Amino acid sequence: MRTNYVYDFADGDMDMKDLLGGKGANLAEMTRLGLPVPPGFTITTEACRFYLERGTTPPELDAEVDLHLRRVEQAIGRRLGDPGDPLLVSVRSGGRFSMPGMMETVLDIGLTDVTVAGLAAHGGERFAWDCYRRLISMYGSTVTGIPGTEFEGALEALRRERGVATDPELSAADLRELVGAYKKIFHAHTGTDFPQDPAEQLRDAVLAVFRSWNTERARVYRNAEHIPDDLGTAVNVMAMVYGNRGTRCGTGVAFTRDPATGARGVYGDYLPNAQGEDVVAGIRDALPLQELERLDGACYARLVEIMGVLERRYRDLCDIEFTIEDGRLWMLQTRVGKRTAAAAFIIAAQLVDEGVIDLDQALRRVDGAALAQLMFPRFDLEGAPEPIATGVAASPGAASGRAVFDSHRAVEAAGRGEPVILVRRETNPDDLPGMLAARGILTSRGGKTSHAAVVARGMGRTCVCGAAELDVDTAGGLLRSGPVTVREGDMISVDGITGKVYLGELPVTPSPVVRYFEGDLDAAAGPLVHAVSRLVAHADATRRLDVQANADTPEDAARARGFGAAGVGLCRTEHMFLGERRVLVERLILAESEEEVAAALAELLPLQREDFTGILAAMDGLPVTIRLIDPPLHEFLPPLEELLAASTDRDRALLAAVRRMHESNPMLGLRGVRLGLAVPGLFAMQVRAIGEAAAARVREGGDPRPEIMVPLVGDVRELALVRAEAERVLAGIPGAPPIPVGTMIEVPRAALTAGDIAAEAEFFSFGTNDLTQMAWGLSRDDAESSFLPQYLRLGVFATSPFESIDERGVGRLVELAVQEGRAARPGLRVGVCGEHGGDPASIHFFHRAGLDYVSCSPYRLPVARLEAGRAALPPAG
Ligand code: ADP
Ligand code: MG
Ligand code: MG
Repeated sequence: MRTNYVYDFADGDMDMKDLLGGKGANLAEMTRLGLPVPPGFTITTEACRFYLERGTTPPELDAEVDLHLRRVEQAIGRRLGDPGDPLLVSVRSGGRFSMPGMMETVLDIGLTDVTVAGLAAHGGERFAWDCYRRLISMYGSTVTGIPGTEFEGALEALRRERGVATDPELSAADLRELVGAYKKIFHAHTGTDFPQDPAEQLRDAVLAVFRSWNTERARVYRNAEHIPDDLGTAVNVMAMVYGNRGTRCGTGVAFTRDPATGARGVYGDYLPNAQGEDVVAGIRDALPLQELERLDGACYARLVEIMGVLERRYRDLCDIEFTIEDGRLWMLQTRVGKRTAAAAFIIAAQLVDEGVIDLDQALRRVDGAALAQLMFPRFDLEGAPEPIATGVAASPGAASGRAVFDSHRAVEAAGRGEPVILVRRETNPDDLPGMLAARGILTSRGGKTSHAAVVARGMGRTCVCGAAELDVDTAGGLLRSGPVTVREGDMISVDGITGKVYLGELPVTPSPVVRYFEGDLDAAAGPLVHAVSRLVAHADATRRLDVQANADTPEDAARARGFGAAGVGLCRTEHMFLGERRVLVERLILAESEEEVAAALAELLPLQREDFTGILAAMDGLPVTIRLIDPPLHEFLPPLEELLAASTDRDRALLAAVRRMHESNPMLGLRGVRLGLAVPGLFAMQVRAIGEAAAARVREGGDPRPEIMVPLVGDVRELALVRAEAERVLAGIPGAPPIPVGTMIEVPRAALTAGDIAAEAEFFSFGTNDLTQMAWGLSRDDAESSFLPQYLRLGVFATSPFESIDERGVGRLVELAVQEGRAARPGLRVGVCGEHGGDPASIHFFHRAGLDYVSCSPYRLPVARLEAGRAALPPAG
């Protein structure tokens, strides 16, 4: 049954995540599949949004909840608040996107001083008081905001007093005493007694879950994961099942495949005699799930069977929360499981092999961010020292940094530009900012499903957890491992692939994925390389965009070819004026006559020719788009401070030149085409070098395909002047092949007058860095160090416009220029060069905008190929 704001589990399905949240939709799906899910219902995200917007719940909500609660009571045969045999429920958050541990859950709602006796009559004293103390602490921290550490402190004190290490060793009397202590804490903080009306507990817990959507840590998490802030969370209310009612009970988590490697099998943790949150919190060390086979063979078999059902239904790796109550298995949650980047590729390819999904679906399940992560280097273990500890390899990568034992200090140290490894006994959601700031995370407690592990995998941070040999003293700011002591600030290295921890900074080696693209490894070298090669090949077969490389040297060009570049989309020439050639630029600047200018340029010509010959040879048969010199000439002069101490005549002349050429806005100054038109002969020299290099390659039997690209054009007349000169120069070079002349579109006016410009341009290439700067009227370098972080925090930018193209603003300039450019010159080739060419979200935009190619740095090429393929996939059916 469904009402406006509430759905029974029996009335939803896995496709209703927007309304029911992921947890609710999947509980509904499991219910539909006939799996054993305790009865319950979901309050929709709509109700949450209503509450967050207006501060009150929809008027009909209370009555709807009552109605659905009655049905749960009927199904279970117990009533909320019944003194003889009370129903208890859990109240659980769950939004559209999974945010592990970020929002709130309250278990055991319905217990009061009266009903606790009824619960004891059915499940025993110890069990009943265990539930009651759990309720008061969860309710206290979630609903009334009492710091969780208050309750933990009281629990720890009691354990110490009784001389026991774990909670199950506490007796009924102990737990009853603990309830008394918890109630005092509750009263001290709120000035009121712990509520004795179960209906009030339920209502207040629901509201608290709604509000938990907006906690600081939830916002930080959403920001990091690019989850919109306005979705709200659903609330699931379900009958409690008891994993803490004795030794034939327990609770666990399971994966249908290994989330770190993708290997098939049964993975997970099981904790006898415990309630759900104990496993994730790493409070006691859980048993490997395989042990359940020995403890309760029937439940184990049923669980394995259900895992098969879920994998077939979701066609993917699932993760599962379950509880066993007196030999009866209950499913409490499932979702498509988070996984490491490597596992994402391996599992996608595996599922294709198993015939579960097709290659298009496999390509949808991986992404460029995951591939980029796999291209990171790994530790070179040749001659490495002995590890100081080994833990669980929870999230891959090779991270070295200074050990920091506190989340705030980790943020500070990272802010100073230091590499940080956050070291904690275990992490909790308050550590999130520190985890984000750190390169790697190291904990001494918890397994593959601990908070640290789950969150680190999601963020792509290297993580080793549960390194039990480590004695982590966070208060003292140090850790010990046998004779070794690591103090805050000492360098350590954590290997997220092997789980090993080393003292000092280890050298790194390239990843196998990079070695594969460099032709160093065969595609059959292992499951990861095999999966990556297969999916990138499918992306290549699917994509419409060409992928080219930004490469300034023959070496870069050669590497780019190996990485699959269909040419060089941007060859910058300014690098060719650096080093010992600076002297020639200085001569050019100081020249007092046309002859002196010509002489300086004449010396640069053969050097440039050689540069171009090398690149054209490396990219033989493929286009090489060469951009004429772009930066202002004064950038090649020594810095002012150096010249102020001028002692020679030459220095004094340079100082005068620097002063004369000073610009208040160099980004908007004498650069690009303006420079070419202001310094006669400069562009002509470059064009001649390109033409002569091409002619030389033709004579050598090569197939050179240079193209000339003019930067910073704002008006067609600028381009017309440069092009006329270029054609004059090229016409005088015997044996030069035809060389197209095109333009960058990076000044907003160029985009706005693209129709005019296309008359003179044989191709367009969007320079989206400059286009973004000039469209926004902000300078990238200045913004990044001043207000950009603030703008991200304030939500003015969801992501930096320099990272992902601003589709609504800058993107419209791109679309307009493509349309008007092609209208004026049908078939005009249009591409993009600059950072955005390698950014996944931007690549999808460029695909939609109808561009012909993207150009990006060589290491980004596999990512761009993959994403260009993903962009061209038909919508999932
Ligand atoms: P999270 O999203 O942080 O995992 P959950 O809502 O899943 O939070 O709940 C926390 C823990 O409580 C989980 O281990 C879950 O399985 C357990 N749990 C939730 N509801 C119930 C219930 N009705 N009976 C028993 N355990 C429950
Ligand atoms: Mg959960
Ligand atoms: Mg530019």
